[in-house]
Amino acid sequence: VAEKRYLMTPGPTPAPPEVLAAVGQPVIHHRGPDFRQLYAEALGRLREVFRTEQEVLLFGGSGSGAMESAVANLCSAGDPVLVVSAGYFGERWAAIASTYGVELDHLRYTWGEIPSADDVAARLREREARAVLFTHSETSTGVVVDPQPFASVAREAGALSVVDAVSSLGAVPLETDAWGLGVVASGAQKALMTPPGLAMLTASPAAWQRSVSAASPRYYWDWERTRKGQSTLDAPVTPPVNLVAGLNVALRMLLDEGLEAAYDRHRRLGRACREGLKAMGLELSSPDDDSSAVVTAARAPEGIDSGELVLLLRDRHGVTLAPGQGELKGKIFRIGHIGYYDVFDITTALAAVELALVELGAEVERGVAVTRALEAFEQTPV
Ligand SMILES: *Cc1c(COP(=O)(O)O)cnc(C)c1O
Repeated sequence: VAEKRYLMTPGPTPAPPEVLAAVGQPVIHHRGPDFRQLYAEALGRLREVFRTEQEVLLFGGSGSGAMESAVANLCSAGDPVLVVSAGYFGERWAAIASTYGVELDHLRYTWGEIPSADDVAARLREREARAVLFTHSETSTGVVVDPQPFASVAREAGALSVVDAVSSLGAVPLETDAWGLGVVASGAQKALMTPPGLAMLTASPAAWQRSVSAASPRYYWDWERTRKGQSTLDAPVTPPVNLVAGLNVALRMLLDEGLEAAYDRHRRLGRACREGLKAMGLELSSPDDDSSAVVTAARAPEGIDSGELVLLLRDRHGVTLAPGQGELKGKIFRIGHIGYYDVFDITTALAAVELALVELGAEVERGVAVTRALEAFEQTPV
């Protein structure tokens, strides 16, 4: 059974069998009554997960599509825009914004640093911006920020806050309306436990107002066309109907568990993963606290290339972890624990890392990581 595969990356993530069964149902027509019903259900559930009264726009596409739609619908060429980045996905905001010809101000931290809202406030006092683009959960480093103070300082400076919540929505607390977030962009294939191919986004009344005058060209990603279609359950283009069916089931599962319970589970999974890696003698590169509930990153031991470790795990043991991206390539490896994961997924990942590191000749503490992880999972998060 060498083919058994374990997907333990921070995206895409494993989908529950119930979700895959829904995806595998016969294709139905997107203008027929059966699709309209599940479309309406999925859109309603999305509002619950985003914690918003506003419409959630659903697109066929990846999370980056939702990010691009935010820029296309909010910005005109030459608009002053502030991007806050501290990793690979923050850089993506800068790349997308530049593509649309905005006047980019880039508040750039070293990868792995934790951006601060005070820095953003100071920057906005120096230089005006109409929008502040930032990352809720920086999947490349494991850093999760609290979006609320970022939204506040943006609002005080007259700018819209635009949040990349691709790897955070459904895993860590996010209150779109209560926190006054301008735009929240996400995707299906992380905490929402659905195969890749759906992007979603919500916009505040202020963001909708801004979109009316934004002059960037757009057709497929146009918010208004999508909103209009959704209002009569007549999608403006053919949606990936099978994925919407899967998403609908996944959202029901998430809401049945309860969002608070899901957040709690993710905190405990993160804790178990960190404690297990440390027990082995490894050094974490993601923050060693409960904020880091999405992905845990550790440094490869001295003399070992983390990319090599990841390849060995995949090719010999069927365990797919994520390597370091960008400047962290070769240095760190990442264990994703978002979405359809439980503590036994963590212990499997830890056991495999331990085994592979020994195979690579590293000196690690053997036989303690799994026990330590199970203990840590049982502790009640503070
Ligand atoms: C995965 C991810 C994205 C990109 O999503 P795609 O679906 O690959 O386009 C963007 N931002 C963050 C934080 C992510 O984790």
